[in-house]
Amino acid sequence: MAEQYASVIIDISHENVDRIFQYRLPPELLGEVRIGSQVCVPFGSGNRTRKGYVVDIGPTVDYDPEKVKTVISLVTGSVTADSRLLELAWWMKERYGSTMNQALRTVLPVKKQVRARNKQVVKSLVGAGTAQGRVILNDQQRRAVDRFCQTFGTPEQKPMLLYGITGSGKTEVYMEMIQHVLDRGRQVIVLIPEISLTYQTVMRFYRRFGERISVMHSRLSAGERWDQFERARRGETQVMIGARSALFTPFSDLGLIVMDEEHEGAYKSETTPRYHAREVAEQLCRMHGAAFVMGSATPSLEAYRLAEEGIYERMVLDRRAGAGSAPASVEIVDLRREMEEGNRSMFSRRLKELIADRLDRGEQTVLFLNRRGYSSFVSCRSCGEAIKCPHCDVTLTLHGRDRLVCHYCGYAVPMPKHCPSCGSPYLAGFGTGTQKLEEAAKALFPQARILRMDLDTTSRKGGHEAILSAFSKGEADILLGTQMIVKGHDFPGVTLVGVLAADLSLYAPDYRSAERTFQLLVQAAGRAGRGRKPGTAVIQTYVPDHYSIQAAARQDYEAFYRQEMGFRRLMGYPPACHMLSIQAAGKDEELLVHIMDAVSRAVQARFGAETAVIGPVPAPVYKVNDIYRKILYLKQENYDILIKIQKYVQNRWDETESCRRLTIQYDFS
Ligand code: ADP
Ligand code: ZN
Ligand code: ZN
Repeated sequence: MAEQYASVIIDISHENVDRIFQYRLPPELLGEVRIGSQVCVPFGSGNRTRKGYVVDIGPTVDYDPEKVKTVISLVTGSVTADSRLLELAWWMKERYGSTMNQALRTVLPVKKQVRARNKQVVKSLVGAGTAQGRVILNDQQRRAVDRFCQTFGTPEQKPMLLYGITGSGKTEVYMEMIQHVLDRGRQVIVLIPEISLTYQTVMRFYRRFGERISVMHSRLSAGERWDQFERARRGETQVMIGARSALFTPFSDLGLIVMDEEHEGAYKSETTPRYHAREVAEQLCRMHGAAFVMGSATPSLEAYRLAEEGIYERMVLDRRAGAGSAPASVEIVDLRREMEEGNRSMFSRRLKELIADRLDRGEQTVLFLNRRGYSSFVSCRSCGEAIKCPHCDVTLTLHGRDRLVCHYCGYAVPMPKHCPSCGSPYLAGFGTGTQKLEEAAKALFPQARILRMDLDTTSRKGGHEAILSAFSKGEADILLGTQMIVKGHDFPGVTLVGVLAADLSLYAPDYRSAERTFQLLVQAAGRAGRGRKPGTAVIQTYVPDHYSIQAAARQDYEAFYRQEMGFRRLMGYPPACHMLSIQAAGKDEELLVHIMDAVSRAVQARFGAETAVIGPVPAPVYKVNDIYRKILYLKQENYDILIKIQKYVQNRWDETESCRRLTIQYDFS
C-alpha cells in the first residue's frame, strides 16, 4: 500500500494556516485518521510531542520523505468543534473550488486578544435587561413550532422553509424553536442579513434569551470577534446571532441553525471560497445532526424549488400576526402616463397626494429608491462624455457639490472646471440619487421632517441605528433611502410606502434581476401598515405590465415563481441548471485574452458535448483598478460535472507558467 501523509496544523487559528506540518501516517492509522482528526505528533527537538489537527491527507509530501516524521497516535474521544470546522473547510474547498488554505482562512477565526476596554463594548451591544414575556402563538405559528418539535432530534428531519408573509410572526416562531433546542442543552446559530442586524432585532432576541445570546456583526474588531467565539467555545453563550460568518461559531453541540430572510444576496460570499450560507448551513447541520430552518416572505427560487420537490418541508404563514394588522394595498402608477400628461417630477400625482394626506394625519411615509449606488455622475454638455475613473470602466460619482469618487477603487478628485475630453466649461451632474430625492421631497413638502438613509449617512459607526431609532420614535415624517430601509424593520407608524422607480433594479446585468425586483417590491410593500392602521404602497414604474411588478403588486409569490422558473428553464439559468463562472484577471490584457480563449477551447474540446460553454466575455465592469477581468460561463445540470471541470481547469492553470501573472476565481451557482 502506498504511503499516506497527513498535513497537521498545531495551533488552530486563521494566522497559522501557512504553518502546516507534514507527517507520515503509520499503517495502523490508515483509514482511521480523517480530515479534522486530532493527532499526537513529534514536535520540535528532543522527545517533545504536541497535539494537532489533520487538515489534509495525500500520497505526496513537499519534503524529503526520508526526513518526514511519523504521527504517534490518534487522539480519541468526542469530536471537537474544531474537528467539525476543519471537516467543513474541506467540504467547502471541494464544493466551491478553492484551496484548503482559503477555506481554512474562512472558517477559522483571527486570534487576537481583546483589550479589556473593549470587553465592555461587547457586553453593552446586547444591553442590559431581563428576559421577559412571550406572545401567544396563533394557530399557523403553533403548527410550524409543533412540527419542528415533533421532528427535532429524529432522523426524519428535513430542512424547513418557513414561507411567511412580512409581519406574519416568523421571528416569534424562531424564538419558540430556539427555546425548544436550548431546553435540550444544545446550541443555536441565527443568521440574519447584516443590514437587519440592528438594535431593534437584537433586542427582541435579547429580551427573550438574555445573557445566553452573543452577537457577531461586521463592526466588531477582530479581538471582539475572537472573544465572542471563545465564549461560545467555553459554553458561556448558547445562541450566536450574526451575518454569514456566524456559521463558523465553534459550538460543541449545535442543535439548530435559523436563517432569516433566506433570499438575501448577502448570504453569498464575495470572496473565495464563494460559498452560499444556505448550502454551508445545510452541510453543517448534516454534520451535527442539527435542524435547519429558513424563513422568508419571498424565498429564493433555489429554496422554493427544493420545497416544491419535497426536499425541504414547507410551512406557510399567510396572515399578519399583529392584532388588527393587514397586508398593505398596492397601487401601480404608470410613469409614462405621468410624463405624457406633463409631470416630469420624481413624484407621480398620486404619490404626492398620498404623502400630503399622511402629513396632514401625522402618519409616516417611507420612500424607497431601489438601486444601490444609483448616484449622480457628471457629464459634459458640449461633447456628451461622462467623466470616468482613469483606472476603472465606471463613471465617477458626485459626492456633495465638488468631489468625484470612484465607487470601485476609491480614486477621488475635485470636480474639474473643464471637461477632460474637450475642455468645455459646461459640465453638469446627472442622475437621481437619494440626495436628489431628498431635495425634491423638501421642495415639495417644506413642512415635512425628512430623514435620509443611504451609504453616505450610515457610514459613521452607529449611523444606521441612530436614523432607524429616530424614525421609529416619530422624530421624522418621511424616511427615504436605498434598499437598506426596506429590510426587516418594523415601523408601526408607517402607513405609506412609495417606490420611486421600480424598474431600476430590473435592468441590472444579471439573470436574477427580476427576482431581486420582485423581492424588493414585496419587502417594500411589507413596511406599510404594520400597526393597526391600514397601509398603502405605491409602485411607480415605466413597465407596469412586467410580471415581476404585477406579481409584487398582488403579493403573489406563486405566480412570480412559475413565470420566473419558466424563464430560467428556457435560458438554462439556475436553479433550472447549475452554473460555474470562471473569472480570470490581470494587468496584461493581451495575456488575459489569450489565456481565457485557450481555457475556453480546452473546456469546449473536453466537455463541450455535454456542457454549454459561453464566452469568455468581459466582466460587467471590465477594468477595475487597472486590472482587466474576463469571465467564462459553464452551464450544466449536473453539479458534479462542473466540479470536474473546475479541477481540470485548475490543474492546467497550475501547469502553465504564464498563468502566474493572472488570478483565477470560481463561482458556482
Ligand atoms: P416577521 O418576522 O414574519 O416579519 P414578526 O415576528 O416581526 O414577523 O411579527 C410582526 C409583529 O407581530 C411583531 O410586532 C410581533 O411582536 C407581532 N406578533 C407576532 N406574533 C404574534 C402573536 N402570536 N400575537 C400577537 N402579536 C404577534
Ligand atoms: Zn466635453
Ligand atoms: Zn476606479
